Amino acid sequence: MDDSSVTIVGAGLAGSEAALQLSRAGIAVDLYEMRPAKLTPAHRSGRFAELVCSNSLGSVEPTSGKGLLKEELRILGSALLPLAEASRIPAGKALAVDREEFGRRVTEAVRAEPGIRIREEEAEAIPEDPLVIMACGPLASDAIASAIRGFLGDDGFYFYDAISPIVDAETIDPEASFVADRYGVGTGDYLNLPMDRERYEAFLAALLSAKTVAPREFEEPRYFEGCMPVEEIARRGPDTLLFGPLRPVGLRDPRTGRIPHAVVQLRKENAEGTMYNLVGFQTRLAYPEQKRVFSMIPGLSSAAFLRFGKVHRNTFLDARRHLQPWMECRRRPGLFFAGQITGVEGYVESIASGLVAAISAVRRAAGRDPRPFPRESMIGALMERITTPGPDRPEPMNANFGLLPEVAVRRKRGRKERKAEVALAAARRAAGWDGAMGAVERG
Ligand SMILES: Cc1cc2nc3c(=O)[nH]c(=O)nc-3n(C[C@H](O)[C@H](O)[C@H](O)COP(=O)(O)OP(=O)(O)OC[C@H]3O[C@@H](n4cnc5c(N)ncnc54)[C@H](O)[C@@H]3O)c2cc1C
Repeated sequence: MDDSSVTIVGAGLAGSEAALQLSRAGIAVDLYEMRPAKLTPAHRSGRFAELVCSNSLGSVEPTSGKGLLKEELRILGSALLPLAEASRIPAGKALAVDREEFGRRVTEAVRAEPGIRIREEEAEAIPEDPLVIMACGPLASDAIASAIRGFLGDDGFYFYDAISPIVDAETIDPEASFVADRYGVGTGDYLNLPMDRERYEAFLAALLSAKTVAPREFEEPRYFEGCMPVEEIARRGPDTLLFGPLRPVGLRDPRTGRIPHAVVQLRKENAEGTMYNLVGFQTRLAYPEQKRVFSMIPGLSSAAFLRFGKVHRNTFLDARRHLQPWMECRRRPGLFFAGQITGVEGYVESIASGLVAAISAVRRAAGRDPRPFPRESMIGALMERITTPGPDRPEPMNANFGLLPEVAVRRKRGRKERKAEVALAAARRAAGWDGAMGAVERG
């Protein structure tokens, strides 16, 4: 390998996107992929960019998080997005693909690049080459996962994620909530949704009977006490939630002067306070069930869910501590991470992070410093979000409108459209950057 070539580990969504970008920019790539000789617990084939679960890459509407992200990827010249579109099958406003055809097209495109050397083997250590992109995914092999953990340290690396839902602040009913910190200690970052006994019991009954997503055979059951699904806590007894995520102690409702029977706490998810996280509501409930059951919480009857909760097997690092917003390791310049392992969540988000890592590596290869994408764009906002310090454990993040900076609008209804316009303009500017996409000379 010469000093300007790049070694990539993993030919999934992020690794394939990165490899194609780099090769088209005239940079030689060594691409490690362990499949088909060694499969992950979810992959079934040797095809690159195999989709392991749903065949949908989400909405194409530019007023949805994933739709806007796709639009930006198109502007930025994503290699995988056109291949997904060429493999599209009808699914209304979603981009669903024939997964075999998509994987076949990606594999052919990667194999057709003369600058990509495919190494059909497992990488067991982080390569020592000057420029490396680690894109080994949420089901990274044990050997590489322990090599990464050895490099980053135990507390910077996770094997499960437990995500609570996030709601749009504008859709929470202010009449049903009060701002307070438990025992009055804090800076007023919590919004509290009180429940009386009757509401609590109705909520509990709905929670206990709601449909959950069955865990995959390699996923279960290794809950840590701190990230136990809310429905599992509820199953332990009718009052357990009152000593857990719905505990009211220390939260006096200023409107009644009393401590409510139960309280759901929402915590600001960003500095602007445009998104709120349902504290302790990590869950395995199916998405429509989350909407139905959590909308029973007073104040959330019209809530827009920006992210649903999840508990699943994942391998991801604490990007807040370890990565720059351009996906480069803080401790080792020239080492990049891409895909789900960075703490993004989802197929399109993983492709986006592969694109960002590739663009950053192109700049490093040219002896220049990488730069972050504008935070007005969805891609820049997402990368900024996962790399910005916050409280507690890191939680993987999807593309959603709550990440975008607020915009001035006359009518609330035009807010998303305006945010999308600003984001697309920022993505167009980034696509024209000298040295960002400008350095990626397309063949
Ligand atoms: C079970 C499961 C289901 C999911 N379902 C969805 C869903 O329905 N929708 C959605 O949007 N997101 C889903 N995700 C999340 C995520 O979007 C996908 O996992 C996505 O494929 C991540 O892209 P990636 O490029 O980071 O990793 P992957 O696409 O998994 O690519 C990683 C690649 O690295 C290879 N590899 C691993 N270790 C090594 C090694 N040591 N040496 C060489 N190669 C290696 C793997 O074989 C794989 O090809 C799911 C995740 C999991 C785990």
